Amino acid sequence: MNSRRIFLQKLAAASVAVPFLPLYKSFGNPVVDKPQDGKILRVAICGLGGYGTRVAEAMQTCKRAKLVGVISGTPAKVKAWQAKYNIPEKNCYNYENFDAIRDNPDIDAVYVITPNALHHDQVIRVAKAGKHAISEKPMSINAKQGQEMVDACKKAGVKLLVGYRMHFEPNTLEIIRMRKDGELGKIMFFQGLSGFKIGDPTQWRLNKQLAGGGSMMDIGIYSINGARYMTGEDPIWVTAQETKTDPVKFKEGVDETIQFQFGFPSGAVASCLSTYSMNNLDRFFLNGDKGFAELQPSTGYGPIKGRTNKGELTGPHTIHQAVQMDEMAALIFDNKQPIVPVDGEEAVKDLKIIDAIYEACRTGKKVPLKL
Ligand code: NAD
Repeated sequence: MNSRRIFLQKLAAASVAVPFLPLYKSFGNPVVDKPQDGKILRVAICGLGGYGTRVAEAMQTCKRAKLVGVISGTPAKVKAWQAKYNIPEKNCYNYENFDAIRDNPDIDAVYVITPNALHHDQVIRVAKAGKHAISEKPMSINAKQGQEMVDACKKAGVKLLVGYRMHFEPNTLEIIRMRKDGELGKIMFFQGLSGFKIGDPTQWRLNKQLAGGGSMMDIGIYSINGARYMTGEDPIWVTAQETKTDPVKFKEGVDETIQFQFGFPSGAVASCLSTYSMNNLDRFFLNGDKGFAELQPSTGYGPIKGRTNKGELTGPHTIHQAVQMDEMAALIFDNKQPIVPVDGEEAVKDLKIIDAIYEACRTGKKVPLKL
């Protein structure tokens, strides 16, 4: 019997003996509310870079997800990860041979954490190998590719999930609860500011081939996705304006700064900024006719802080990637429905919006959207 099961049994016994144990205050986050049990999601990470490393570390604290394999083009990294995380040789692959993962019964899912433009092909290969796929954001570099990924996973009978970690963050979920319960009244306006000053001009994030675009693909997507989960609506039109102060660093097709606006079916509007040239931009503001909510920082690794017209938000700080992976185990194995979706269809909506934003920048026109 594993130690976790023993712990749970002890916990159950304790709660029988002491029936009035104080409960955690619920912030709508089941992982925070109570320990989880159930089948463990055995994950291989594809792409052992900065974020892959963060996910691997976070997974060490997971209750229902375990890092069991790697896919990498760098043998030295594979060796280091094998030693650090006790990964057997048979669960190590490179970008050429990882289709063979189909014959590996010890891996349930592959988490693709490579440069944006690679997600499409890699996720489709994972699906064809019969494994569940988790992709980092942006799921791909346009909606057409995104839809192909959704279709491939459907055809293969595997789940496709996207690393939208904020969908499990307690303060974010508390605002969503308040909005759903009518505590903010009729939602009128959302503002999203997403940006940072990007460094090294040679990195893949500034290479159109690998990034698919610029700041919008990388960081602006947080305001796009946030506008949708904060208001609870999908936009029906988009306008957008691009500005570039450094055309050498931000080449053709790599956006430096874009301001964009949405209109929603209810009449609510949003105004957002995506940039690679300004620091300290990580802020959401939601205004309704009975109240407001703001988050700053709104999408960093935390602690996520904010307040509403009722006072400061006091949800606990969580390790986003650990909560996300535990929740994904429940989505995959228990068919649990998340409060805000994290599936491929959800990501295609964001990609359709990105396509429309780029079109609006190009044409200067208001672009209608049907999501
Ligand atoms: P990174 O540059 O640190 O790592 C990328 C990894 O991909 C490296 O290990 C690199 O070796 C590998 N790779 C494979 N093929 C490559 C190729 N052809 N060119 C370049 N690298 C290649 O990048 P990152 O910050 O880890 O970002 C990876 C993905 O994760 C991106 O899609 C990014 O948007 C996403 N991300 C998400 C979050 C989040 O909070 N959800 C945070 C950071 C990054």
